[in-house]
Amino acid sequence: MIPDSFRHVRAWVFDLDNTLYHPSARLFDQIEVRMTDWVMRTLSVTRDHADHLRATYWRLHGTTLAGLMREHGVDPVPYLEDVHDISLTHLTPDAELARGIANLPGRRFVYTNGSAPYAERVLAARGLSGLFDGIYGVENADFQPKPDETAYRTVFAKAGIDPAEGAMFEDDPRNLLVPHAMGMQTVHVAGLATHESHIHYHTDDLSGFLARILE
Ligand SMILES: [Mg+2]
Repeated sequence: MIPDSFRHVRAWVFDLDNTLYHPSARLFDQIEVRMTDWVMRTLSVTRDHADHLRATYWRLHGTTLAGLMREHGVDPVPYLEDVHDISLTHLTPDAELARGIANLPGRRFVYTNGSAPYAERVLAARGLSGLFDGIYGVENADFQPKPDETAYRTVFAKAGIDPAEGAMFEDDPRNLLVPHAMGMQTVHVAGLATHESHIHYHTDDLSGFLARILE
């Protein structure tokens, strides 16, 4: 069942955060603190107000950064550097996942709403360096984040990905809507399944899922 629906796949696209490492590493907690601090400093607002703004921007614009850029004209480059300046000591190398990714037939990509340099650091900490044909961050989509359709179109064009021959792995169900509409296989990687029609597969064990694809 699984091998059949992935047999045509030639481009394997992975989100980074909470997809290529387990959410228990809680990296996003560190990033969130830095984002809130950044909003407080830059917009001179209280912590409560900064959290409220971030929640609003996430809902309306997809990410805190997209809201900051559209509503406040924020320069994304120093922002991305600052919020991703976090400790990766909670990450450990994952040989099983590395094996699963290395064995996938075709090209392999990382596409994150974080920055590409941050993705490189995370991949190194997970023992996944050198396995990917391209690593794309939000800066590679003109700072348009997933789930904007233009963001996927920009990155897929740069990477030469034909969505009809692609599969996308993501922990955020929202970010699978456009890939599904573009004709990709969609895999939701998370502890809890959501039953939405744009999600083809769910797994809480990415390594095990990849191993089953390759059986
Ligand atoms: Mg993620």
